[in-house]
Amino acid sequence: MGDLKGLIDKLYRSNRLNEDELLELLDNMNEESRKYLMGKAHETRVKHYGTRVYLRGLVEFTNYCRRDCIYCGIRASNRNAERYRLSVQQILLACEEGYRLGYRTFVLQGGEDGFYTDEKIIEIIKEIKKRFPSCAITLSIGEKSFESYKKYYDAGADRYLLRHETASRRLYDSLHPGMSFDNRMRCLWDLKKIGYQVGAGFMVGLPKQTNRDYVEDLCFLKEFQPHMVGIGPFIPHKETPLAKESRGTVEMTVTLLAIIRLLLPEVLLPATTALGTIDPMGREKGLKAGANVVMPNLSPLEVREKYALYDGKVCTGEEAAECRQCIDSRIVYAGFVPDMSRGDSILWERK
Ligand code: SAM
Repeated sequence: MGDLKGLIDKLYRSNRLNEDELLELLDNMNEESRKYLMGKAHETRVKHYGTRVYLRGLVEFTNYCRRDCIYCGIRASNRNAERYRLSVQQILLACEEGYRLGYRTFVLQGGEDGFYTDEKIIEIIKEIKKRFPSCAITLSIGEKSFESYKKYYDAGADRYLLRHETASRRLYDSLHPGMSFDNRMRCLWDLKKIGYQVGAGFMVGLPKQTNRDYVEDLCFLKEFQPHMVGIGPFIPHKETPLAKESRGTVEMTVTLLAIIRLLLPEVLLPATTALGTIDPMGREKGLKAGANVVMPNLSPLEVREKYALYDGKVCTGEEAAECRQCIDSRIVYAGFVPDMSRGDSILWERK
C-alpha cells in the first residue's frame, strides 16, 4: 500500500499523475488502496460540491439508430429491437411532468435518427425553452456537423453529452464499424468551441480493454477538460455480437470514478443507470466514490423497456414520480442531499 498511498496523495494534492503513475495505480489497486482512494475522492467532492447530488430528468426519445456500435442493443443491425419515436408533444409532456416533479434539467437522448432533422430538434429545443425558460437542456444525440451543433446551441441547448466511448483508437475502431475515431474527437472539440457544457466519457470492462486503455481515457479527459464525464460498466445485450462477453465490474467502475474526481475535481460526474444495473447498490457506491449527478428516467412508461442498450436495465417499470421518490430516498440514505437546481458546471460558470 505504501507506494500506492503516495501516488493517491500526489493525485489528491496536484490533480495529476503521469501515464506511468496512472498505470501503476491501476495495476496494483487492492481493497485497502481502493478504500483510501475513495476517501480522497469523497473529500474532494465535498470540498467542491458539499454532499449535493444533482438530479437530471432523462427523456429517451428515439431508439432508431443509423449506427452499428457492436455493444449496443439499439444498433441498426438489431432487427429484433422494437423501435419507437416520441412526438414533440410526447417529449413536452414528459418535460412537463418532470418540471412538476422539480427537475430543472432535461436530458434528451436518442439514437442517431434521421427522422429528427435539425429543424425538428430546433423546434423541440425552442418549445421546451419557451415553456420552461428556467430549465437547462442537455442533448445526447450523437455525431453531427459543427453547423448542426451550432444551430442547436443558438436555439437554446445548453449542454451536450457525447461519450468518446474509449480513447484507444485500436479499441474504438474494433467496436464501431463504419465510424471514425477522429470524427468523434472532432465532435467533442467542436462542442467545446461552440460554448456547450460538454460531457465526454467511456465504458468500463469492454472485451479486450486493458489498464493501458483506461490510462488513455484518463489522459484524454485531463487534456480535454470536459464539464461532465459519464462512465459506466459495459453490459452485454443478447442481440449483439458481444452477447457472450462478460460485463464490467463495480470495483473497476468506482475506482475510475474516484480517479476522475481527483483528476478533475470540479467535474459533474453521474452515477449511471448501468452501474445501478450491475449492482443493486451500484449508484450509491458511485456517489461514495465521488459521483455527484443522477439521471432518473422521465420517458413514458410504455417505451422504457424498448430503450434497451443492454440487458437487465433497472428502473424501466416505474412512473417518473416513483422513480424520483426512489432515487431521492436512495441519495438520502447514502448520506447525500438531492439538489433539483439546474446544477451548471462550476468550471463553465466561471468562464
Ligand atoms: N447516440 C448517442 C451517442 O452515440 O452518444 C446517445 C445514445 S447512446 C445509446 C448512449 C450511451 O450508451 C453510449 O454513449 C454508450 O456508452 C452507452 N451504451 C451503449 N451500449 C451499452 C452497453 N451495452 N453497455 C453499457 N453502456 C452502453
